[in-house]
Amino acid sequence: MLVVMSHTASEADVRRVIDVIREMGYEARAIPGKQRTAIGLIGNDGKVDGSRLEGLPEVLQVIHVTQPYKQVSREWRTEPTVIELENGTRIGGDEVVLMAGPCSVESEHQIVEMARVLRDAGATVLRGGAFKPRTSPYAFQGLGVHGLELLSLARRETGLAVVTEALEPEMVETVAEHADIIQIGARNMQNYPLLRRAGRTGKPILLKRGLAATIKELLLSAEYILAEGNDKVILCERGVRGFDQHTRNLLDLTAIPVVHSLSHLPIVADPSHGTGLRAKVTPMARAAVAAGADGLLVEVHPDPDRALSDGAQSLHPYQFEELVQQVGIIAQAIGRRLAPVLQRA
Ligand code: PEP
Ligand code: MN
Repeated sequence: MLVVMSHTASEADVRRVIDVIREMGYEARAIPGKQRTAIGLIGNDGKVDGSRLEGLPEVLQVIHVTQPYKQVSREWRTEPTVIELENGTRIGGDEVVLMAGPCSVESEHQIVEMARVLRDAGATVLRGGAFKPRTSPYAFQGLGVHGLELLSLARRETGLAVVTEALEPEMVETVAEHADIIQIGARNMQNYPLLRRAGRTGKPILLKRGLAATIKELLLSAEYILAEGNDKVILCERGVRGFDQHTRNLLDLTAIPVVHSLSHLPIVADPSHGTGLRAKVTPMARAAVAAGADGLLVEVHPDPDRALSDGAQSLHPYQFEELVQQVGIIAQAIGRRLAPVLQRA
């Protein structure tokens, strides 16, 4: 439930509403807005009788949030959430954000040189896994903490922000020391202890849709993070399991406008995992931007044929440059633009 205060409400009026919500046995969260303050009631698992709140001074309206994902919903917040990173990248506004990099961090040379090329091409966020969720236990599992250190080095050298995955709850704080955005991978979308722990860091979280997750399940997983007091969540459509063998996954671009209508959170698309095929990445990147994606997460490798993971879906650097040109035109056609190229550090 949301209690909307009139614009003349004083701090004491807001306080009184919060106290009454607590007396009723629920949690209260003040949401200051440009015009007026709203107070969210959380902790209920069904409809709450709001009559006591309706009668309090300066209460304008009591809105019942009908969706099970409350704080994530558009009912809770009508304006889109914009997440600003330390390097100035804004995710969820007019700008389309480019996040790019190799699937895995492999060496200092690989990640730092890649980061330079990507920054010059227009990316503002560097991706790269240090802890890799691999289908086979015998496949390359990532460089671990050393990989995180190399990502920090690449950020210092280039000014790019870093997004990297936290695979298990115990490592969340270590990942948070090196990441601007903590990635929760598709396989972990419903790992609730991991979501809670990542949420508590207060860092932006990139939450990838599970292989067989519905949009509602994705939004409820995001709710776990918001329930920890962290509303900096970026959703990611990365494809769901389909029945056709021609692509690795079925990139569900419908999820983009659907999420935008249901939620105020930004959503980016990952056409690399969404297709699994290098030649299909750019067409689907174009389609994702046309569908309204707030950004792209793209795998790029300096030498894809020698990549330690996901080489088949990784672009060559020159292909990423072409992708940027093309999606820039599409962004403009729908009244958006690409985030400006970072100045050399
Ligand atoms: C990745 O981004 O490299 C990754 C492992 O993605 P996903 O969790 O979507 O499979
Ligand atoms: Mn990958």
